[in-house]
Amino acid sequence: MFAQFKTLPQLFDYFKDEETCMAYWTSIRWVDSITCTHCGAENPYITNRGYKCRNIECQKKFSALTGSIFENSKLPLRTWFAAIYLCCNHKKGISSLQLSRDLGIHQKSAWFLLHRIRETLKELAPEALGGDGVIVETDTTVVGGKVKNMSNKKRKEIKDRKRGKTDNKTVVAGYIERSNKIRFEVIDPHENEKELLKKHVDPTSVLMTDSASTYQTIGKDFAHHGVVDHSINEYSRDGIYHTNTIEGAFSLFDRMVVGIYHNISRKHLQAYCNESAYRYNTRKKDGTIRFEDTVLKCSGVRLKYDILTSNC
Ligand SMILES: [Zn+2]
Repeated sequence: MFAQFKTLPQLFDYFKDEETCMAYWTSIRWVDSITCTHCGAENPYITNRGYKCRNIECQKKFSALTGSIFENSKLPLRTWFAAIYLCCNHKKGISSLQLSRDLGIHQKSAWFLLHRIRETLKELAPEALGGDGVIVETDTTVVGGKVKNMSNKKRKEIKDRKRGKTDNKTVVAGYIERSNKIRFEVIDPHENEKELLKKHVDPTSVLMTDSASTYQTIGKDFAHHGVVDHSINEYSRDGIYHTNTIEGAFSLFDRMVVGIYHNISRKHLQAYCNESAYRYNTRKKDGTIRFEDTVLKCSGVRLKYDILTSNC
């Protein structure tokens, strides 16, 4: 650990210039020795503008930023670090408009920067949640508004795509190990909610749901299926049978969607789900640890602008 950033001014005091930021980043990226970002070979030549790999089959040039989310960015690392701090520590996230005002950058830059940060918050190779006797609660929420409230152009687009259906809502499923880890997953129209449940929750777990018919048959595939019946005003039974944890997490998620981001397109919704889940899963860590954890993740993933804005 390098310093304590309890507030944004403390962060700016610590990262007083680009040299400090680069020294911090280099120490995070290369803990023991400098390795080639292309092939992993150690001990590169030092050049005027960075490094050159000593491996005869590679010999590529690289810098501390190569391959990271900061590569080719015109923004200083100091701005990036402040954005990471704000994105991870605001309980409901931060909008690109707000971030652009806070940091004095263009809104489009702030939007792209936040998406790059979100990309790093994605779980790599996620394993099924739960396990022997572990309680996993699941539920769903919907994101999106009514078509009647949209512009004519948007309304036509959706009508064409959804063949006349009257809403533009997307379903998001949540899975949570009590007092531990959460995961949000956008359910595509062609995807089966039951199959997703099997993918995300270990069958030896105790599944805890409301009385929705979706869960009635699939529940038999788990070690035990506990149900609370909201239709008869039952919200908790014996202190164990409830879905209050996932509902609490969804209420924070919904407040993020409605209060901060307002309109999230279907294409980017999973990224916002990952952001919300990451924040929830690190809620017990202090701001500095969470900041360092996120900066650590920045070395491998780099989202390119053209991929982000493509229609696929
Ligand atoms: Zn190399």
